[in-house]
Amino acid sequence: MHHMTLAEIARGLADKKFSSVELTQTLLARIAQLDPQINSFISLTQDLALSQAKAADERRANGESGALLGAPIAHKDLFCTQGIRTSCGSKMLDNFKAPYDATVVAKLAAAGAVTLGKTNMDEFAMGSANESSWYGAVKNPWNLEHVPGGSSGGSAAAVAARLLPAATATDTGGSIRQPAAFTNLTGLKPTYGRVSRWGMIAYASSLDQGGPLARTAEDCAILLQGMAGFDPNDSTSIDEPVPDYSAGLSGSLQGLRIGVPKEYFSAGLDPRIAELIHNSIKELEKLGAVIKEISLPNMQHAIPAYYVIAPAEASSNLSRFDGVRFGYRCENPENLEDLYKRSRGEGFGSEVQRRIMVGAYALSAGYYDAYYLKAQKIRRLVKNDFMSAFNEVDIILGPTTPNPAWKLGAKSSDPVAAYLEDVYTITANLAGLPGLSMPAGFVDGLPVGVQLLAPYFQEGRLLNVAHQYQLNTDWHTRPPTGF
Ligand code: GLN
Repeated sequence: MHHMTLAEIARGLADKKFSSVELTQTLLARIAQLDPQINSFISLTQDLALSQAKAADERRANGESGALLGAPIAHKDLFCTQGIRTSCGSKMLDNFKAPYDATVVAKLAAAGAVTLGKTNMDEFAMGSANESSWYGAVKNPWNLEHVPGGSSGGSAAAVAARLLPAATATDTGGSIRQPAAFTNLTGLKPTYGRVSRWGMIAYASSLDQGGPLARTAEDCAILLQGMAGFDPNDSTSIDEPVPDYSAGLSGSLQGLRIGVPKEYFSAGLDPRIAELIHNSIKELEKLGAVIKEISLPNMQHAIPAYYVIAPAEASSNLSRFDGVRFGYRCENPENLEDLYKRSRGEGFGSEVQRRIMVGAYALSAGYYDAYYLKAQKIRRLVKNDFMSAFNEVDIILGPTTPNPAWKLGAKSSDPVAAYLEDVYTITANLAGLPGLSMPAGFVDGLPVGVQLLAPYFQEGRLLNVAHQYQLNTDWHTRPPTGF
């Protein structure tokens, strides 16, 4: 049962081949047996899962249907779940039980999805390796000595290891697409504003966006359908109708104009990944796509700009964790200042502290113009590059990451080395554009992803292209050995 995709599960449930309770029990047993190897869950919610599964079976028995009705999923542990620990991967929130459900959680529950648990993640979603979690590193099911990517490494590892078919995740600078690439999954970062951020613990509010991680584009379409839509509780959510993503998967790629930025194939890219990307381009050409070389001239400035803007917003967002209102509080504070300092010093890990300091510095009176304002100007240039590219092409294609998953610990003492790995993903967040990563082959037994970017609100186009590609390739169907 554990090899089934969301789409297959939906058919099996509709045909009464099995019940949601049976499926949920099977997957919970599988998690208990295999998760100790990869550490992809922070919390399991067995009781909730079984009661949701039972309710979904009853709804089906009463004639209801729906692709998510009775489907098992998990949530990245930064989506608030009422009465359940929502830790954000941090000691700071280890004792925090959210008093309400995030909009994404509530919407998926209403559609009948079954929550198996909360997945591991980099602390406060800061990272690309899932090594900064207070609950320990997550391991890549493709090679347990390698990282699964981050920050949504728990969601990715769990889905890749067939512990469940799909999970929610978030992407501030690549945290859906990069772990998807590292674990042979399909992951979609929607347009900024497509999915509500209400109840999603903020890292960098102008960049954060929730989205689906699954094995196929078809499943991403199903999960995104349940997540997307206007939310009056999120002032940045967009009041635009949500298309039927599953219905849009079958479109032909005849005449689709694919732009390939020349800057993507620079010295930093592993040549074996470059070759796989060229193979996927050929595959799409066979399906009727037309390839055009384009240029994104300001791409080289994106990493420094992102690593000013994201920490700046984080320094502001994370000021609420002060040891007073909720979360961790140090023992026996001597006075108020000691309470703040030690609660934050003991509650936050080193990467989070580094970002708060960088961000507070960039926003401080003497440095705001030199760093923060400059970074915002670069952000606009990056966006303008995309706007002119999309005058000529329908999607942009390239690698998701310059290298495959690195070894655990290989970059943990060199934060800048890890930041550089985000080169292909962060531009979409700076511009607010949708992006998708899908499996494109293997290097040394480790998965490689190809990234597709589209104009605003063209998630459907990304899913359509990825689905057509997946009908003609089998990379995404391969499971890691041992899982
Ligand atoms: N690696 C990037 C960072 O650490 C992106 C993380 C994310 O998308 N949440 O900021």
